[in-house]
Amino acid sequence: ETIKETIFLDVPPQWSPDSARVDDFPEVARFEERLDAVTRSPAGYPYFRVHEGAITDTTVIGGRPYLSFGSYNYLGLSGHPAVDAAVHEAVDRYGTSVSASRVLSGERDLTVRLERALTEFLGVGDCLTLVSGHATNVTAIGHLVGPGDLVVHDALAHDSILQGCALSGAARRPFAHNDTAALERMLRLNRSRFRRVLIAVEGAYSMDGDLVDLPAVIELKKRFGALLMVDEAHSIGTVGERGRGVGEFHGVDRADVDLWMGTLSKAFASCGGYLGGSARMVRWLRHTLPGFVYSVGLTPANAAAALAATELMTAQPERVRALRRNSALFLDLAAAAGLSTGSSAGTPIVPCILGDSAKTLRVAHGLFERGVIADPIFHPAVEEGLSRLRFFITSEHREDDIRRAVALLAGEVASAGGPAAG
Ligand code: PMP
Repeated sequence: ETIKETIFLDVPPQWSPDSARVDDFPEVARFEERLDAVTRSPAGYPYFRVHEGAITDTTVIGGRPYLSFGSYNYLGLSGHPAVDAAVHEAVDRYGTSVSASRVLSGERDLTVRLERALTEFLGVGDCLTLVSGHATNVTAIGHLVGPGDLVVHDALAHDSILQGCALSGAARRPFAHNDTAALERMLRLNRSRFRRVLIAVEGAYSMDGDLVDLPAVIELKKRFGALLMVDEAHSIGTVGERGRGVGEFHGVDRADVDLWMGTLSKAFASCGGYLGGSARMVRWLRHTLPGFVYSVGLTPANAAAALAATELMTAQPERVRALRRNSALFLDLAAAAGLSTGSSAGTPIVPCILGDSAKTLRVAHGLFERGVIADPIFHPAVEEGLSRLRFFITSEHREDDIRRAVALLAGEVASAGGPAAG
């Protein structure tokens, strides 16, 4: 009996010969039905388009130029000649891979310089880089909390935060988006029942384009003795007078946030993630964080790109001012045209909420036909009935292009039956 049980221990109860291949999973068939419906619709398939160069405020697809509001190249630094030159130099000197974890295979001065530059840029004690923003959240949350702990997170938190919670084994509770009263209630009811409580918020929310009320969250963190993590994927480089993020925007003491997380893939024109905080914590993470210790270091090219971008962001704060000006212009024009932009404010992300997904796809397609790109977003990325187009503004957009895009958008929305009600 014992031997038999041991042999079958690994076999999940629903195992059967017909689901032993991924190709035969019922969810694969369900996905294909949906994919078929999308590709057969007159609006066409809007994903995985092939771009023929760097995407800045413009891009080229199939030989045709487009005005783009579909990339996170917020400061126009991907494709910037100084960043490109730094990458060429790095590849000439170090090759294309560091091949292994930095713990054993050692450092390249580029990565050390990048982490020093980021430490200064963020105003923290120290900083650590990893090869993916998504993986950074997963491994960090998985490492900091575990069974018996609780993560409370904004209801609109990114998938990587949820995956980190699942990995950790901690309990997880969402609070209503940007609702600090709901967060307060949750902490009051739960704090004493858990060993550690981690509050996870984002600096700027990528679906709604609004900012966290960081001073209020810090007050709660202190009052309830919780840890606080801020994901600055969309706020670093874009928010605050010099682009130093929500910490700068709200003028908070950087030490009041335990973990500043961000990605290198957006304003920093590279690929990867970072974790910033106290020097003591970062030294511990450098020796124990699984996604760092057991994973390769940044490629020389990615480290060089992020370093050059950090230097440009420091030397040219006018990029952030141009970004803020363009974002405010887009938002004002969209509001004046009667479009539904939800709670977007103070960020380079402006949603145009249309409600139903068919209408959203039609408007996206209509704009694309007229040479303008914006992402259509549907359930489950956003709540059912809140499908939208998302516009990412960059410092490189020209005023007349923004005016033209909003006018075209208003025209497409009107011919599709108007903006979402309410
Ligand atoms: N956090 C947030 C809030 C994000 O929006 C994203 C990606 N858009 C990530 C983390 C993951 O970053 P990356 O794409 O650089 O892996």
